[in-house]
Amino acid sequence: MDKRQVLKEYFGYDGFREGQEELMDAILSGRDVLGIMPTGAGKSLCFQIPALLMEGITLVISPLISLMKDQVEALNQAGVHAAYLNSSLTPGQYRKALGLAAAGRYKLIYVAPERLVTEEFLDFALNASISMVAVDEAHCVSQWGQDFRPSYLKIVEFVKRLPRRPVLAAFTATATREVREDVAGILTLRDPLVRITGFDRPNLYFAVQSPGDKYGVLRQYLELHPGESGIVYCLTRKLVEEVCVRLRSDGILATRYHAGLSDEERRKNQEDFIYDRSPVMVATNAFGMGIDKSNVRYVIHYNMPKNMESYYQEAGRAGRDGEPADCILLYGGQDVVTNQLFIENNRDNEELDIQELALVQQRDRERLKKMTFYCFTRECLRDYILRYFGEYSANYCGNCGNCLSQFETVDVTETARGIAGCIKSSGQRYGVTVILDTVHGANTVKIRNYRMEDNPFYGSLAKVPLYRLRQVMNHLQLQGYLYVTTDSYAVVKLMELSEGLIRGETKVLMKLPREEPEKKKPEKGGKARRRRQSMAADFHAEEFTEKEEKLFEALRALRMQIAKEEQVPPYVVFSDKTLIHLCIRKPASQEELLEISGIGAFKAKKYGKRFLECIREGNL
Ligand code: ADP
Ligand code: MG
Ligand code: ZN
Repeated sequence: MDKRQVLKEYFGYDGFREGQEELMDAILSGRDVLGIMPTGAGKSLCFQIPALLMEGITLVISPLISLMKDQVEALNQAGVHAAYLNSSLTPGQYRKALGLAAAGRYKLIYVAPERLVTEEFLDFALNASISMVAVDEAHCVSQWGQDFRPSYLKIVEFVKRLPRRPVLAAFTATATREVREDVAGILTLRDPLVRITGFDRPNLYFAVQSPGDKYGVLRQYLELHPGESGIVYCLTRKLVEEVCVRLRSDGILATRYHAGLSDEERRKNQEDFIYDRSPVMVATNAFGMGIDKSNVRYVIHYNMPKNMESYYQEAGRAGRDGEPADCILLYGGQDVVTNQLFIENNRDNEELDIQELALVQQRDRERLKKMTFYCFTRECLRDYILRYFGEYSANYCGNCGNCLSQFETVDVTETARGIAGCIKSSGQRYGVTVILDTVHGANTVKIRNYRMEDNPFYGSLAKVPLYRLRQVMNHLQLQGYLYVTTDSYAVVKLMELSEGLIRGETKVLMKLPREEPEKKKPEKGGKARRRRQSMAADFHAEEFTEKEEKLFEALRALRMQIAKEEQVPPYVVFSDKTLIHLCIRKPASQEELLEISGIGAFKAKKYGKRFLECIREGNL
């Protein structure tokens, strides 16, 4: 067999995605590789397929038990013998698995890094023929990465002890230069083929909203997407609790995840989500690392996260199957304050002295600012993200909230002048909130303490709503009229451009979304349906009618049934895309089944009969 046949036979796919083929070819020729590809790009196949083609065993190093479990289940479902060795096994199970491994039962063995240099494991490894060590989530070796794992350093030690050096293949989604160099250096890759694919995720739709009633917006979205799986991220545990309780009382099947829950409950809730028993997961950022669930159809941020890195990572958990998915951020002014508090109180790293801590905090404030600008930019959101990560793209993507909104240009000169005037007249000594409260005429303790009631601009913009004041404040920062200092006090300062504004010489124009005439209530399930239409179009199907919709539901129920029997998540049995393809082609025989995307020989044999039957019945 060659790699293309393996792709078809075991995984049921017809073609390679960007980067996959080159990385596989290099591995097969015996060369080390470093693959840097965004989440969902298909890194696993890059080492799984060569593993099946090479003599001997491939060891896969992975940082998390859940990741290992997910991949091993998926491989077993495809008819590949694979196993994992980690702390979730009892000593008895562990010994048994090692015994089978030694007997040559597995082509792929997933190992937790801390196991590598244990006596028991070395005993096996030194006597086995190991042809490749694949390091998944390879950024974990780097202290620059977000999830540094000291045990990853044992990989090198382990490889050195092997009688024959295997091919080393490293994969990560983290693209910064420091991490890249660290991975290649620390893992001692030899003249590796480095392949970096673009960071864009064209199937993701990005949008930002600043609703007065966040909960209402969230609930409406969820009601319009029944049965679809998604994550709702909140900044605090308290908010996770609140939102989850409200959703449940509104009849939505939601579960929750945050660091304040017991291990037991976290595990259970995570499984409820992965196994589609609970389609909605409300969580803090503690949730997600190690979630390979491919059919997450939306990630909604109930709050703005602390920086763009976190945002793209969390949002990127949507649509790993390459199908359309939504990433929506619900911004509120309070989010900035909460994040600022997190930054002030961050004592995560006890090794830092005061100066270093100050530096870290300043960098964090800088990042928070860029995140805030994301929420206020009127330009293409995708373009903003990619530019942040150092990629240049077209500044119109056609698949984000801004590209699809109609904007009107509004003259905000009066408001802008009031803000700038207030900053100047109070000596450029105060932060955003004090300035906005002053022009808005608020009566707070701070305002009284600073005697801002006496400021000539006090209450001068009382009629302008606060959210609009904030929009203009951000616009002025984006346009270089003002800046906010990022040392310990965040103070708003004027820049040169403001001179003309204050003198009344400059006009400030701002793009704002056109107020929608009158909102039609969207049809229930309308978007989910349109998504299926769009997946169907990928298979060049003319339409996806009522009949196909019904068949889809029947196939989905069958998939759930099988998933229960096999005790694996539904998407491990078949992806949504495979179900759609089945609805369109309506195969009538085993041969025809093999033409469906995502169905290889093994799955066709194992489940084919039941699905064929279901299709036949649906066709009557
Ligand atoms: P990554 O590890 O890069 O985040 P995965 O390896 O988990 O991504 O793959 C994401 C999804 O893409 C999986 O469902 C996988 O089966 C699918 N996939 C990978 N390669 C291909 C391909 N060549 N054709 C179709 N689907 C693919
Ligand atoms: Mg992966
Ligand atoms: Zn866009």
